[in-house]
Amino acid sequence: MALHNPVLMAVSGILIGIYFMPSEKDLVLDVKLNATYNYIVVGAGSSGAVIANRLSEDPEISVLLIEAGGSEYGNEDISTPIKAAAVENTKNDWSFYTVSQKYSHQMKQEQKSFWPRGKVLGGSSSLNYLAYVKGCKYDYDNWEKEGCTRWSYKDVLPYYLKIEDIQAPQFYDSDYHSRGGYLGVSEIRNTPLPEIYKQAAHEIGIEHDDLNGENQIGFLYMQSSTKNGERYNTAKAYLRPVINRYNLHISINTCKKGIMTSSGLEGHIFGRMTDRNKTEPLYPDYQLEFFSIAQDDLFIEKGAPVNHNKSVIKLLQTRSSSMEFTVVIIQQHPKCTGYVRLQSTDPFDYPEIDQNYLCEYDDVKTLLSGIRIMRKLENTTIFKEIGATYNRLDFKGICDTEEFDSDEYWECIIRYWGMTGYHPASICRMGSKTDPTSVVDPQLRVKGISGLRVVDASVMRHLTSGNTNAPCIMIGEKKADLIRGKDIVKAFRDKIKHLKIKGDSF
Ligand SMILES: Cc1cc2nc3c(=O)[nH]c(=O)nc-3n(C[C@H](O)[C@H](O)[C@H](O)COP(=O)(O)OP(=O)(O)OC[C@H]3O[C@@H](n4cnc5c(N)ncnc54)[C@H](O)[C@@H]3O)c2cc1C
Repeated sequence: MALHNPVLMAVSGILIGIYFMPSEKDLVLDVKLNATYNYIVVGAGSSGAVIANRLSEDPEISVLLIEAGGSEYGNEDISTPIKAAAVENTKNDWSFYTVSQKYSHQMKQEQKSFWPRGKVLGGSSSLNYLAYVKGCKYDYDNWEKEGCTRWSYKDVLPYYLKIEDIQAPQFYDSDYHSRGGYLGVSEIRNTPLPEIYKQAAHEIGIEHDDLNGENQIGFLYMQSSTKNGERYNTAKAYLRPVINRYNLHISINTCKKGIMTSSGLEGHIFGRMTDRNKTEPLYPDYQLEFFSIAQDDLFIEKGAPVNHNKSVIKLLQTRSSSMEFTVVIIQQHPKCTGYVRLQSTDPFDYPEIDQNYLCEYDDVKTLLSGIRIMRKLENTTIFKEIGATYNRLDFKGICDTEEFDSDEYWECIIRYWGMTGYHPASICRMGSKTDPTSVVDPQLRVKGISGLRVVDASVMRHLTSGNTNAPCIMIGEKKADLIRGKDIVKAFRDKIKHLKIKGDSF
């Protein structure tokens, strides 16, 4: 069985002794721990922080939240969106490396993928690139169809509404957004580039829409988990506002506004392949992320660590320019799956991770479709006006024998330069009681072990379309209700009763 680390678990009624070491600055966490708690939540990440907050709303219930990493308090690299990459490969990052990849990562040292994951209050929401993306109706309806009872879109949308405190006035009256939740969400346009991306998309027939609205296919401005220019990780959104609750104890280290108010990500295109398999749900197949950031010398040296071979860094510096923006193409529903498993019985050993990227040509084909959209954008009047052209990555000895722009050329580029999109999921997937491929039931209880639940990205039946932070927060919110036997979203459920989405009424 594939096991998961990091894993978040809400464990009911366990008595344990804990080594407690508060950070120097964060004295608010310096409390004496009890001998017992009603719930112990392991991991203060995107889901864990939410669960801890919601369970401790009941003053009769005591909750201990255990975090392997330290406090995020006062760390400007975390609070300042544009500095996201500066948190990677620091003490606040687990800094995992996968096993050497067979079919990809040719430009990486030992063909290994570098996998940052947050090791700090807020978990990966403290170092992610802040895209706030719910995913689409077809993701969740497909989960339900495959045995995840009450995880359909109509079941999860009210939780998304509960989460959000939308900052963009154009969405105040939208059925898909709401105000007053814990998580600040802003629509970001820091530079003139998003208007250019939007115009170019329009020229090739891709229309603008709301990233988190009814329809996910199209050009979509970035919506980010930020408010007043600051990162809204789950530590800031869900823990800091309730940190003085006497029945919530947080144990860490156990076992300012930037110039840009975003991580640089300013727009998305979600699209479907033209020759897609008709039996698959109507979710998007690829995502283009528009980062208004140049892969210049500084970025290559100080930007996100991606484990490039040293020789490759030199090559990249020969073509780098500060007059660039970057388009990242992300596969949405890969056919290839991998595993995460224990390497030994020592709980401090890192797990073995093999994601098996690009093991099937279908996955290459999906990325090729995204590349073809990028090539079309390059030919638009607006891109020509600003002189935006593809900055080639074929160097002497690297993909230089294939004819430029042929499918074979791009396949080579994909296999050489491709890397993680930072959204691993589904290794303790949810399913019906009788489903042998699942680890947890639709209540997120680990099958066969009483009192143990898994609540994080690993329980997703399948990856959602887009980025995974918002779904993890939703999973935390929904699971808290399942544990408490409450329905805190009735008002939102009523609000969306009238919605008809692609002919399916609620
Ligand atoms: C670099 C990067 C960029 C990303 N960009 C985006 C983005 O822009 N938008 C988006 O939606 N998603 C993004 N993601 C993905 C998203 O952030 C994650 O999917 C999400 O945060 C995962 O939430 P989680 O609750 O599953 O785990 P995490 O948030 O990773 O939380 C796990 C927590 O458990 C703790 N922990 C683990 N083991 C133990 C233990 N044994 N004892 C105690 N504590 C433990 C960890 O330290 C961590 O705090 C990005 C991820 C990365 C790494």
